[in-house]
This record gives sequence, C-alpha cells and structure tokens, in this order.
Amino acid sequence: MVRPIEERIMNERVRMKAKRDELLNRIEKEARGEKSKKLLKEIIQTESLSHLYWNVCVAPPVVAGCKGSTMTDVDGNEYIDFTGGFGVHAIGFSHPKVVAAIEEQAQRVLQYCEMPSEPRIELGKKMLEITPGDFEKKILWAVTGAEAIEAAAKLARYYTGRTNLIAFTGAYHGRTTGAMALTANAYFKNFHQLPVDTAVLRFPYAYCYRCALGEKYPDCNMACTRYLDNFFSSIQYGLRDPDRGITNVAGIFVEPCQGHAGYIVPPVEFLSELRKICDKYELLLIADEIMCGFGRTGKLWACEHSNVAPDLMCIGKAIGGGIPLSAVVGRQEILDCMGPGGHMGTFAGNHIACAAGLALVRVLLEEKIPERAARTGKYLVEKWLDLQDRHRLIGDVAGRGLFIGVELVKNRETKEPAAEETAWIQNECYKRGFLIQRAGYYGNRFNNYPTLMITEEEIDRAMEITDSVMSDAERKFH
Ligand code: PLP
Repeated sequence: MVRPIEERIMNERVRMKAKRDELLNRIEKEARGEKSKKLLKEIIQTESLSHLYWNVCVAPPVVAGCKGSTMTDVDGNEYIDFTGGFGVHAIGFSHPKVVAAIEEQAQRVLQYCEMPSEPRIELGKKMLEITPGDFEKKILWAVTGAEAIEAAAKLARYYTGRTNLIAFTGAYHGRTTGAMALTANAYFKNFHQLPVDTAVLRFPYAYCYRCALGEKYPDCNMACTRYLDNFFSSIQYGLRDPDRGITNVAGIFVEPCQGHAGYIVPPVEFLSELRKICDKYELLLIADEIMCGFGRTGKLWACEHSNVAPDLMCIGKAIGGGIPLSAVVGRQEILDCMGPGGHMGTFAGNHIACAAGLALVRVLLEEKIPERAARTGKYLVEKWLDLQDRHRLIGDVAGRGLFIGVELVKNRETKEPAAEETAWIQNECYKRGFLIQRAGYYGNRFNNYPTLMITEEEIDRAMEITDSVMSDAERKFH
C-alpha cells in the first residue's frame, strides 16, 4: 500500500519533471540565441527549480554585460531595461564611481566579520543623516532585503513584547520564513504557516484602482485606514490595551508604494493615516523601502511624500550599489533593545558593499538624482498616457517618480484583467529588445522601474517598441 507521504513525493516528482520539460521546451522555442539556449539548458540541469522564476520573459537572456540602462546578452542582443536589474542599480549599471570604490576597497579588505571598516562607519553615519526622523537613530546591517525584514520583525516583537504583526494585501517582503509570512503572495501557497508564535493580520492596501472596500478616492475619505482604525478601537482589541488585547500587535509593516503587487502608488494620506493609527494605539510603523527607496519615487525616500518618519525602515537593493547589502534604520531605543549579538551575520555590512554604497549615496545627493527621477518619471507617465489614448487595453497609469504601474484590462468599464494579453506583450517586447516586469494581483500590470539615469531617448525607444507590440496584441486578441 502506498502511504500518503510516498504518494505525495511520487506526484511531486511527476509534476516537477513536467515543469522541467516545460521550461526546456520554452528555452528551445524562445531563447534569443544559441549561446543563451545552451547555457539555459545547463541551468535546468544544475539549479533548483525554486530558483528558476522567470518573470520578465518566457526564457530569460543570459547576461553578458550592462551599461547605463541597457543590458547585453551572451548572443549580443541588447535590451533597454525597465527593471534596473530588479531595482538594484539606482544610478545605472556599473556606475564608474561605484566601480572605482569597489576596486579600491578590494585592495584593502574584502570582508571581515565583526571588524568594522571605515566605509561601513561612514555609510552608517550618512544613512542616519539622510533617513527620515528627527530623533536619535541607529542602523543595523544585514545582507538581503528579506533579512532586513526578519531583523525588523525581531526588533519590533522584542521591543514591544508583543507577538503579532500587521501586513497588507499585495505585500511583498521577501522569501525567508518570517518575511514570507508577511508577504501576501500566492507564490507561497504551501508555505503560509506562521513562524513560531507570530500571527500576521492582513488588511487591504490602498489599491485605489480596485478598492477592496468598493470605494472611490478621494470621496472614500480613506476608508481603508479608517477600517484599520476601527479594528483597533473595537472592544476585541482589549479596550485599547495592546498588551492584553487578543490581537497583541507589535507593529505595521507597509511598503509606502507596493512593488511586486504591480507598482501600486497609494494616496499620500495612506501612510500618514497609518502613522496616526500607530501613534494612537502605540504600535510601531515599519516601512519597507527596499524597492521604493533611494530616490526612486522622486524623493530620497517614499515616506517623505507623506511627511512620515517610520519607527523602523528597511532598506535593501540599491544600497550596496549592486553588491548585496541591506539595513534597518530607526529609533535608537528600538535598534539597541536586543543588545550585543541580537542580530548579526557573517556578511552583514560587507566592506565592499559599504564602499560601493557610500559612492552611490554621494552620487545620488551630489547629482540630485531623486529630482532627476521625478522629472524623468513625469516624462514616462506622459508617454504611457499617450499610449493609453491609442490603446484601449491600458486601463490605468499611475506613478510617483520612476515608480510607475500600468494596468491592462480587457474592458475599461468592467476592468476585467487582461493577463494573457499582458504576458504576450511582455514577451514580444523582450524579443524586440525591451525588458519590462509583469506583476499585479492578476498578472496584468507592468512595473516600470528603470535605473534612475535612464534618458528620454531610451524611454522613447522603449515606448515605440511597446506601441507597435500593443497594436499587434490588439489585432491578435480582439
Ligand atoms: N521588500 C520588498 C519591497 C522587495 O521588493 C523585496 C524584493 O524584491 C524584498 C523585500 C526582499 O528583498 P531580497 O530579495 O533582497 O531578499
């Protein structure tokens, strides 16, 4: 007799073999050159399937090099990249000042766990200076975005002595166990068990194009944050005593603008209302600026649009100039609460990454890159709105700086998601030399986040490609 666990393993083996075959088939049909094809097939043989999440196209290009805002693959094809290397390269791929800082630091010391270095100390001081909050702050170093989220969750729970956390629909905070529990995504459908004793309570994000409460901004008077306030003011919460209430919440994790959910930009009041709720009920506000920070939204930090200083802020991606680095910055008393050894790691605050990060911050500030992102973002939104006039598939265009989401619908009245069309358009754009990420609750949104150095000429080229692909899509699908 086959026992349930054996049956499950057998079924999984069959399912995974089918998945591998499907990927090989995609590679055979869709790879953009013989070299990419050969290398991608090798990847299927060697790398865990969990690592092979191809979101930008049906079969990804194998990267050979990147400059400015353009990527070149091993077969010599060039792509205008609207993902900025997935948000890592704020000031362009291989900025000469970042490369020089890496080379110089490499001559001194690559990494030395526990022993601080001058670049790390300098970058730390700079981060405390440039992050929101007119109070005593400290920084904690980590390596990946997810690890910064884990550290913030630990700090919040330790500091408040409460166990539970609040997160939002559509939230993405990473794929380690704790971060995954805060993430709302269906990718993790089999992993939604909660770590240890933490419960994550989920509330609707201000996704105004599809309001979960059926309201319309601004007439809604921020129904979503009022709903949250109502929850905390209710009797079940323990007569406003967070330590006794059944919900026992330590803090609210929020992306000031949501990334993986499809580049969703909430009204600026969303964050300021959350700040008020946190103050009223003595909760910590924890902003995840991993995707939207470092100038992307047209200000250095997305929180600044709402004049909000979070208690803790998680920072990642761009901070290391392309080398893995992340951090939590926030109120000194919270950052210090766990004491020595409370959270650390072998590669936390890596010296090369800090040297690169320091060079990056100097360029960002000296060359006023956030202001540049505000201008270029406006230009790109206008280009999309122009396309929207001509292509009925485009239902919504909204952005803040170079953080721009575009939603495709079959019908502008019913807003039926055009997921199949979006996937087809994305892959055609890739074939014609334009990389753009597809995301969203329904897989029908385009995330626009090129490097902050992208030029208007590059935007024009990308939009010309999109225009012709959308015309083809409309002929194909309608
Ligand atoms: N938080 C946000 C908002 C993100 O966009 C991401 C990654 O995309 C993460 C956290 C996780 O960062 P990492 O992939 O470096 O672990």
